[in-house]
Amino acid sequence: MIGYGHQYIDDDDIRAVASVLKSDYLTQGPAVGQFEQEICRITGARYCIAVSNATAGLHIAVAALGLGKDTEGITTPNTFLASANCMVYNGIRPVFADIDPVSYNIDPAEMERHITDRTGLLLPVHFAGLPCDMERISAIAKKHKLHVIEDAAHAIGSQYADGSYVGCCKHSDMTVFSFHPVKTITTGEGGAVTTNDEELYKRLLMLRSHGVTKDEKLLTKNPGPWYYEMLSLGFNYRMTDMQAALGCSQLRKLGFFKKRRREIVAVYNRAFAGMKYLKTPVEPEGVSACFHLYAVQVDFAGLGKSRTQVMAELRERGIGTQVHYIPVHTQPYYKETFGYKEGDYPKAEKYYGQELSLPLYPGLSDGDEETVVKAVKEAIG
Ligand SMILES: *Cc1c(COP(=O)(O)O)cnc(C)c1O
Repeated sequence: MIGYGHQYIDDDDIRAVASVLKSDYLTQGPAVGQFEQEICRITGARYCIAVSNATAGLHIAVAALGLGKDTEGITTPNTFLASANCMVYNGIRPVFADIDPVSYNIDPAEMERHITDRTGLLLPVHFAGLPCDMERISAIAKKHKLHVIEDAAHAIGSQYADGSYVGCCKHSDMTVFSFHPVKTITTGEGGAVTTNDEELYKRLLMLRSHGVTKDEKLLTKNPGPWYYEMLSLGFNYRMTDMQAALGCSQLRKLGFFKKRRREIVAVYNRAFAGMKYLKTPVEPEGVSACFHLYAVQVDFAGLGKSRTQVMAELRERGIGTQVHYIPVHTQPYYKETFGYKEGDYPKAEKYYGQELSLPLYPGLSDGDEETVVKAVKEAIG
């Protein structure tokens, strides 16, 4: 079975994890520090903190901003639940802004339209690894004095049009990555937050570990080396050294992962060009995406088959597909809690109705690619 995504683990990864198992540290230790430094080197950010998963990273990134309870935050409906849930955890009302129908990313003009005097946060998501227009989003944020957190769960290795890497935080306060197995690099579960702001970095460090510090400069008294103080309500969101060692080993393959993902996207784009009912993804001018998903739009009505039927036909040929994403505002929890309803974000809803994610991962062989192309042409021809 060819799935829509799959991790890529080689012998170096296995050796890296095994060597930690033979060391003195299992949970957060020297490998976590190394992994954080590597992410700083690759992204160009000043600070990085590794966390147990991106959901935890988003939670403490929003918490670190210390926004008031009546604040609103703006994100895209075309995302995984965690991009909006992180606001709800912090008592912030998630407001959505509709997507751009070409890139499927949040539309900056729609974002600006939803700004009120309660807005405190913009949270763009680099969908499928395609960077949002961060220059424009950061200009809007500056104009309205808002914070910006980039959800880059899909986008490690992606470059903005000026060549800088997602995660450098030149246009945001913080960027959050995910290392779930289906994402570009994996640590099993895992995530990271990057920032250039020392204050935010210090707050993130505390929030990751119970709100506790041993920093002499922060303690109210210091009776001995055993002493610590809890200064805020934090969590246990630490990454283990086993995960971090795997992360370091995976990062060494990021260049290969990106190259291979881009090659597969190019093969698909050529093969599917000119199909009547299928639209291939469009990479914005100048950016270099490390594609996480190959998201196509299918005119199921024109084709005369339902998505369920097409997915079943592909499955019969050994091909797994997925749908990214069910618009967050249409989830029962969001409808009940915040009063959203179908029709609130028509572009994201129309996009969702036609979306299909085809297999994309570095371990896909040339033969697998051919199998996918042939099956897709038959099922959607
Ligand atoms: C996967 C994902 C997350 C959550 O990542 P975890 O590491 O699984 O917590 C957040 N946002 C987006 C856009 C994602 O795709």
